[in-house]
Amino acid sequence: MQFYSTNRDVEPTGLRDALLTGQAPDRGLYLPESYPALSSGELTDLRDKRYPEIALAILRRFTAGAITDERLLELCEDAYDFEVPIEHVAGRGHILRLDRGPTASFKDFAARMMARWMGEMLADDEQEIVILTATSGDTGSAVAHAYHGIEGIRIVVLFPIDEVSTRQRKQMTTLGGNVSTFAVDGKFDDCQAMVKRAFADPDLSGIRLSSANSINIGRLLPQSVYYVYAYVRLADTEGLEPVVFSVPSGNFGDMMGAVIARRMGVPIERLVIATNANDEVPEFLKSGIYRKIEPSRVCISNAMNVGHPSNLARLVDLYGGWMDETGNLREMPSMERLREDLYGVSITDAETRDTIRRAHERHGVILEPHGAVGWAGLERFLEKNPAAKDIISVSVETAHPAKFPEEIQSLLGLDPEVPPSLAGIEERQESHEPLSVDYAPFRDMLRARFMQDRS
Ligand SMILES: *Cc1c(COP(=O)(O)O)cnc(C)c1O
Repeated sequence: MQFYSTNRDVEPTGLRDALLTGQAPDRGLYLPESYPALSSGELTDLRDKRYPEIALAILRRFTAGAITDERLLELCEDAYDFEVPIEHVAGRGHILRLDRGPTASFKDFAARMMARWMGEMLADDEQEIVILTATSGDTGSAVAHAYHGIEGIRIVVLFPIDEVSTRQRKQMTTLGGNVSTFAVDGKFDDCQAMVKRAFADPDLSGIRLSSANSINIGRLLPQSVYYVYAYVRLADTEGLEPVVFSVPSGNFGDMMGAVIARRMGVPIERLVIATNANDEVPEFLKSGIYRKIEPSRVCISNAMNVGHPSNLARLVDLYGGWMDETGNLREMPSMERLREDLYGVSITDAETRDTIRRAHERHGVILEPHGAVGWAGLERFLEKNPAAKDIISVSVETAHPAKFPEEIQSLLGLDPEVPPSLAGIEERQESHEPLSVDYAPFRDMLRARFMQDRS
């Protein structure tokens, strides 16, 4: 499979190159040149397959030529060794829980596959790759866990010492091995600035630096798998029964996974895009006018506080338009087709809290703030489109409620059960090193650790 850039100023390239460079040289985002279709017969064959087998059936269409099917199956088995529960809620409504991975957020699905793909691509390389990440919490832990123990790759995580919770910190600092963590005496923005500067620093050109950034195509493709999985588990695949998905969205990577699944043949009748108060995309769908929100609005579903989604350029491209790397709409996509396929909705914090309360009271379901935005979005859609009540619907839960104990405790008066992945984490032995916000000591540390390793 070849991958083209949304800016279309460079030649299409293979998976290896797209993965290792992340952003295309023309600053566009990579997308696959085609979406191999799944027939209703193929979907039916997947009904009784386990998650890793379904992942193989989907992902092999994109990795062909770069990774053998035998090896890909091993990687899928290794990456997806946890449960993917689908909970029935009421009527034809369901919740897809993507929160059982090692860091209890849906980001595990993509990070774990991308890490293994990169490990494969680099297996024969002499020089190791150093992945630099700045984190305010969740991304750093998903990336650190995903790459932990992968040969040829070292991970350096910078986190702001006072801005991450103990639980979040321990998810990164108790790994050891190829993961080094640094507690920066500053804010998240300082960490990010240091990482950015390192990428541009000629003094570090002897180190092979890379990122595990959310715009990487390797973090997108694996997110199409769980939509296929939910569909074949719930629907009459022989009749290609339609389905509605609702996706709580920030940078729109998760939602793009559903768009890819749709292109491959999953009959998604409507895709509900549910955002918090950062409503730039629902507004765009309504008015056809795109305005970033700067600075982004602070909401309790904090992983979705995004005022300009990094994956929007991909959506625009797939609907015939062009958005450049600065967020400028250079060519309009087909608004008519976008509105046909997508339903945008913005949910306030008050509605989010109310949804957590109601879902528990009425259905005995425990949601956390991100999943509650998705569920509220689905409810809104069904209210406006009553005919859709007869269609199977699935709302995505992107994090485990135990990651938000204070919010759940104050709304429901209970402590959500802690999943095995988070259990006992407070007691685990941690190690991290202090770092000031000055760039020079950071650069010197990178040089001392990673330049001398060259053989
Ligand atoms: C990252 C994240 C999201 C947003 O996903 P996007 O792909 O950026 O839209 C939603 N919920 C949780 C818990 C997340 O960590």
